[in-house]
Amino acid sequence: MAIMTPYQVDDVRFSALTLLNVELEQVFEGCRWAEGPVWFGDAGHLLWSDIPNNRMMRFIPNVGTSVFRHEANNSNGNTRDREGRLLSCEHGTRRVTRTEIDGSITVIADRFEGKRLNSPNDLVVKRDGSIWFTDPTYGILSDYEGYAAEPEQPVRGVYRVDGASGAITRVIDDFLQPNGLAFSPDERFLYVADSGASHSPDHPRHIRRFRVEGERLIDDGVHCRIDVGIPDGIRVDTKGHLWSSAADGVHCFAPDGTRLGKIKVPEVVANLCFGGPKRNRLFIAGTRSLYSIYVNARGC
Ligand code: MG
Repeated sequence: MAIMTPYQVDDVRFSALTLLNVELEQVFEGCRWAEGPVWFGDAGHLLWSDIPNNRMMRFIPNVGTSVFRHEANNSNGNTRDREGRLLSCEHGTRRVTRTEIDGSITVIADRFEGKRLNSPNDLVVKRDGSIWFTDPTYGILSDYEGYAAEPEQPVRGVYRVDGASGAITRVIDDFLQPNGLAFSPDERFLYVADSGASHSPDHPRHIRRFRVEGERLIDDGVHCRIDVGIPDGIRVDTKGHLWSSAADGVHCFAPDGTRLGKIKVPEVVANLCFGGPKRNRLFIAGTRSLYSIYVNARGC
């Protein structure tokens, strides 16, 4: 099903990032909470999570959609490491895993300082092979997206896993609910969404920026705010624009934090990624559906 694309242009620069002769497509319908899209260029397919249904889905353009993994430990965010392997955040097991080439599962992180993680949500890999992930409490708030439990960690942190040693360090500890994260194209900055407003309206609904100093982060303040809903998953394109999920669609921000515009989507958006052979096709995880739209931008 194609939907006439309602763009909201807030700044003339947004027009250069969109295409007029394209439509928002509903690629698949039938999830309960779609999340974690990741593109595999070599396989030519997209994987994403359907958290409450405890499965991962696979979309092959011009072929169709099928179930990729039907016991997925309530997986949420997904990405690939520098060797192309699938990395997943799992609510059900409260861990970050890597799927090896032979299909076996390796645990990357499930504890910090001897205590179980809350429920890893989303992750990103730096060029040096380090894995950075967020650990809010969404997966332990109820039995719907995982298993209800009391948090063992004193904070909802952001963590870095060293690519060589596997050592885990907490790099952020002052978020209400850290969620999506993405590096700037030159990796000088890390953007991290705080979706704390999901359960309390006066809590954060913004994306903060950090300067990356080796293995440390230096707080650079609030980069931008979401005016409808919360920022969940985020992605950066090759020109440094930040594309964020929101309740009314996908919001696009300039590198200076100015909102340029929105791609309106008829369902609440939880996450997105760039895909396709040219990485110019935006895949949008929107509650029950997977949507896509071509844009005049390429994902990093
Ligand atoms: Mg998320």
